[in-house]
Amino acid sequence: VKEKGKNNYQLFNSDMQSNFYRKMMIEKQLRTALDNEEFELYYQPIIDLKTSDIIAMESLLRWNNPILGLVSPDEFISIAEETGMILPIGKWVLNTALKQNIQWQHEGYKSLKTSVNVSVRQLLDPNFVDDVKKVLDNLGINADLVVLEITESIAMYADSMIAKLNTLKDLGISLSMDDFGTGYSSLSYLNKYPLDSLKIDKSFVMGMNQDDENNAIVKTIVAIAQQLDLSVIAEGVEGQEEAHVLNTMGCDFAQGYYFSRPLPANEIKEKWLIARD
Ligand code: C2E
Ligand code: CA
Ligand code: CA
Ligand code: CA
Repeated sequence: VKEKGKNNYQLFNSDMQSNFYRKMMIEKQLRTALDNEEFELYYQPIIDLKTSDIIAMESLLRWNNPILGLVSPDEFISIAEETGMILPIGKWVLNTALKQNIQWQHEGYKSLKTSVNVSVRQLLDPNFVDDVKKVLDNLGINADLVVLEITESIAMYADSMIAKLNTLKDLGISLSMDDFGTGYSSLSYLNKYPLDSLKIDKSFVMGMNQDDENNAIVKTIVAIAQQLDLSVIAEGVEGQEEAHVLNTMGCDFAQGYYFSRPLPANEIKEKWLIARD
């Protein structure tokens, strides 16, 4: 018994140790990742469920490091947030994603929007609004084509945050509440924030067909959005069945593997922009 206990302890311990070293390694490699051009943006189409048109592309960050290989954003984004690295990385993402949008405009897709994920850490940065303004001005992009996806957090409740979101909104940018229904969920902010849309978290959408409760949650979120005059986007749509049900529920837009996986810009162009024209 003693032996077993000891082994268990060691197992637990070495697990913790390897987690710690992996995190250290990610932190170290992240510091040079921008300079070494290890980041790439993938894009996933957002589809109008009524017309099947592509209305937007969400940019999703990919990191391929020579030592660590491909690291999932779910793993490295939180570390980039903790270390503050998300600030320069986020700037690169915004600039790169909007530059791509301009490229698509040159290719004839003039009303395609680009949706960019922004972490709370970025919104808290006092320079954030100015930085966004600069990127928009430098590229000469119409702010109507720019959507920022933000997530719920305690920090979002501060008056200063609401003022900041209003400033972004006044620039003509759209704001979307990502992962809606998870996190620091509270309905009280919904009429305080200048939001344009809600994104239903994929955990609800993916369980919709198997689970009546998830189905009810999705329906409720769609109803809330309609009441508040917000558009609603379902993420994580993997099958035709879900797409159909979401459409009958009145969900406006959808995104997921059923339509397309996130792809590099050249593949997006081949599969979606040229093929459909
Ligand atoms: P998110 O913003 O909620 O993005 C949706 C995630 O679901 C993406 O994962 C996407 O690839 C994945 N996904 C899309 N359709 C489906 C589907 O049908 N089924 C399933 N199972 N998954 C689907 P990804 O690209 O790994 O990104 C994970 C998270 O990392 C994002 O979640 C976002 O929170 C964060 N992230 C990604 N790129 C950026 C970025 O540029 N900046 C910031 N701050 N965060 C980012
Ligand atoms: Ca998102
Ligand atoms: Ca999400
Ligand atoms: Ca997320």
